[in-house]
Amino acid sequence: MAFSITILGSSAATPTSRRNPSSILVNMDYTYFLMDCGEGTQIQMRKSKIKLQRIRHIFISHLHGDHFFGLVGLISTFHLLGRTEELHVYAPRGLQDIIQLQLMASQTQLIYPLIFHDTNPDQPEILYETDEHLVKSFPLDHRIETTGFLFAEKQKPRKLKKSFLFYDVEITVEDILKIKAGADFVSDTGRIFKNADITEDPPQPLSFAYCSDTRYFEPVIQYINKVNLLYHEATFMEDMKSVAQEKYHSTALEAATIAKKANAGMLILGHFSARYKELDQLLAEAQSIFKNTQLATDGLTIDLGTNEKTR
Ligand SMILES: [Zn+2]
Repeated sequence: MAFSITILGSSAATPTSRRNPSSILVNMDYTYFLMDCGEGTQIQMRKSKIKLQRIRHIFISHLHGDHFFGLVGLISTFHLLGRTEELHVYAPRGLQDIIQLQLMASQTQLIYPLIFHDTNPDQPEILYETDEHLVKSFPLDHRIETTGFLFAEKQKPRKLKKSFLFYDVEITVEDILKIKAGADFVSDTGRIFKNADITEDPPQPLSFAYCSDTRYFEPVIQYINKVNLLYHEATFMEDMKSVAQEKYHSTALEAATIAKKANAGMLILGHFSARYKELDQLLAEAQSIFKNTQLATDGLTIDLGTNEKTR
């Protein structure tokens, strides 16, 4: 089992020598999902030794350049590497035309299926779902149509206690599935095994939410309630609150307020304005409201299961 994120770009619109524009890789049980794809994202993935071809789904929050200018390059690299597997791109309407124009101009006929899905900027929506995982989009408040994304594990079945397996009872696969779903078990001889005695609680499902770019926007709280990890943009500090408001961005204090109101486990701040050379004050501002806050840095991986951080 795995659930981790790797930050590939933590800068706002202008990249710096240490920070790339927005992009995050999400690994849910070794299926890779890319969120946003600013310029240079594929190089960032190379630096982090991420196997590019494992990416099956790409989610683009909105069509500002710092969130998607790296996409056509990545699509082209997949082609050059001989990809045959489908690639699904979820984005606001319009991206398909942009990418197709670029491919047409360079006379590239992709050798793999590229499938676009329009996201809904007005309502939450399930974009991807399996028995184990879910990816949802939800509206944000930005200058143009923008969505955030939620990645979540589904509730896992109950775990059979090892001690139960030592009982000498006839049991079918179907029985086991019922027990894992919460049922008691009655043996051939009529002996009743209470579910609570023969199973234990499964691990709590984990979740991760991404809010970039947005103004302070309380309606998101309902969609990200109790996430283990929240990435929220913090383009400015509170002394530039009016500029943040005008440019449809958030301050560090506002990001922390959202994390607190949503009962998030941990907050990662990102999308920093290039004006800030040092981010200590930005961090302190957020921590005054929400203690468990950390600054995003390019190349940082966080494991949601263990909270371990690696670079
Ligand atoms: Zn933007």
